[in-house]
Amino acid sequence: MSGAPTKTARAIAAAVQTGELSAESSIEQALEAIARRGGLGAFLRVDRDRALAAARAQDRGRAAGRDPGPLGGVPLAIKDNLCTRGLATSCGSRILEGWVPPYDATAVERLAAAGAIVVGKTNCDEFGMGSSNENSAFGPVAHPEDPERVPGGSSGGSAAAVAAGLVPLALGSDTGGSVRQPASFCGIVGLKPTYGRVSRWGLVAFASSLDQVGPLARDVRDAALALELMAGPDGRDATAAAVPVPRGLAALEGDPRGLRIGFLRDLSEREGTEPAVRAGVRSAAEALAAGGAAVEETTLELAEYALPVYALLATAEASSNLARYDGVRFGRRTEGGAGPRGMMEATRGAGFGPEVKRRIMLGTFALSAGYHDAYYGRALRARARLAAELDAQLARYDALLLPTSPGVAFRRGERAGDPLAMYLSDVFTVVASLGGHPAISLPAPRAAGALPVGVQLIGPRFGEPLLLRAALALEERGFAAAGVA
Ligand code: GLN
Repeated sequence: MSGAPTKTARAIAAAVQTGELSAESSIEQALEAIARRGGLGAFLRVDRDRALAAARAQDRGRAAGRDPGPLGGVPLAIKDNLCTRGLATSCGSRILEGWVPPYDATAVERLAAAGAIVVGKTNCDEFGMGSSNENSAFGPVAHPEDPERVPGGSSGGSAAAVAAGLVPLALGSDTGGSVRQPASFCGIVGLKPTYGRVSRWGLVAFASSLDQVGPLARDVRDAALALELMAGPDGRDATAAAVPVPRGLAALEGDPRGLRIGFLRDLSEREGTEPAVRAGVRSAAEALAAGGAAVEETTLELAEYALPVYALLATAEASSNLARYDGVRFGRRTEGGAGPRGMMEATRGAGFGPEVKRRIMLGTFALSAGYHDAYYGRALRARARLAAELDAQLARYDALLLPTSPGVAFRRGERAGDPLAMYLSDVFTVVASLGGHPAISLPAPRAAGALPVGVQLIGPRFGEPLLLRAALALEERGFAAAGVA
C-alpha cells in the first residue's frame, strides 16, 4: 500500500501504443522492481534475457509500423504450473524441478500474441495444493504488506507480484479458490472464469474437472481484458467450450441500476467469519443497493456440503493426475531399491511434499474398490445438486454476493500443522468451483493499517459480462485496490 501509484496493464499498453513508453523500458522497470522486492519470494524464475529481447523486438516492430497489440509492452507473470516453452516449470514441486516444457500453455500463448511479455514464473503451493503458499518446495511467499503473514494460495506468488506492483498482471490457476483467495488476502482483483471458458492446455492438471486459468490484476477491466484475450475454444482442450467469447469486456460500464443481487447473508456470517469480513460484504450489499441495484438476502442450502464434496473430488482427481510423476517421463528421478518399482517409490517419496502425499492417499482411498460409490459417487451426486441450486439462484439473480475467504491474511505457520483449519479458508470459494460458475474477488475499502478483505461475486455460467458489470459497480464504489492509476 506504499509508494507511487501503480499503472494498470491498459495504461502501460496505451503508453506503448503511442510511443510515450518503450516496451524495453516497461520491462526494465518490472525487472528492477522484481529484483528490489526479491525478499518477497514471489518469483521462482525471472526470464530476464528473453523478456528484454522480446521487448526490443516489439519496439523495432512498432518503429516499422506494426501494432504492439492490446497488451503491448505489458510485463506478465505466470504461475509456475502453467507451461512456458523453454522456461522451466516446476509446479512448486521437487518432482518437476528442472523440467522444461516444449510448449506454451494456450493462455500464455494467447496473451503473448496480444503483446504481453512474460517476465518470469511465480511461486505457488505444490501442484496448487494449499491456501497459503507454505506448501511450495521452494520456500514461502511473504505478504507484501506484512512479511510475517501469508499472501494466500495457491497462486500466492502471482498475487504478491501484482499487489507489490512488480507486474500489473499475472496468471494463476483456480481449482477451489487459488486465484480468488490470494487476491483477497493481497487486496487485488482475482477472476475465476466459467469452467470451459479458458483452455486448460498447458495447465498442469491438479483436479481436471475444476481447474481453470484466471487473471490477477489491479482492476476489474484489466482482468476483463486478459480474460477476453485468452478465452475461447481450443482444439487442444476438448473442455474449452465452443461458446462465443464476449467482446469489449474492458469497455463495460458498472451501472448497478437494474442489477439483481442475491446477498448470501446467512452463509457469509456463518461461525468462523471474521468481523472485518462480515463488515466488508455488508458494505458491498449496501453500496450496490444505494447505487440502485435490487439487493435481496437469500440462501444456498447445499453450500454447507461444498467443502467435503470438494475435498473428496479434488483429492480423487489429484491421485489419478499425479500418477504420471514416476521418474520415467518428467522431471527428477531418484534411484532406489530393486527394479523400476523401487525407482518409482524412491522418486515419489523424495519428490512430493507432505500435503501432496496426503492428498494422493486420501484420493486413492476415496476411489478404492468397495468405497468408490460411498465416497466418490456420492460426492459427484452432491456436486450435481449444488450446481443445480446455483443455476436456479443465478436465474433469479444476476450475481450472488458472499465473502471470498472467512478471514484476512493469517500468520505464517499459524495453520501449517492443521490441515482442517487450512481447508476452511476455502469454504466460500469452492462453491463456484464445484458449480463451474465464474466468480471474482474484489478488495473492500479499508482503513489505513488494516489488512485487505475480499468480497466475492458469483455469476451465471458463461455470464461473465453480467458478473463483470456487477464487479465494476462495486469497484466504482470504492471496492478497488489501493494506489491504482
Ligand atoms: N486451497 C484449495 C486447495 O488447497 C484450492 C487450491 C486451488 O484452487 N488450486 O485445494
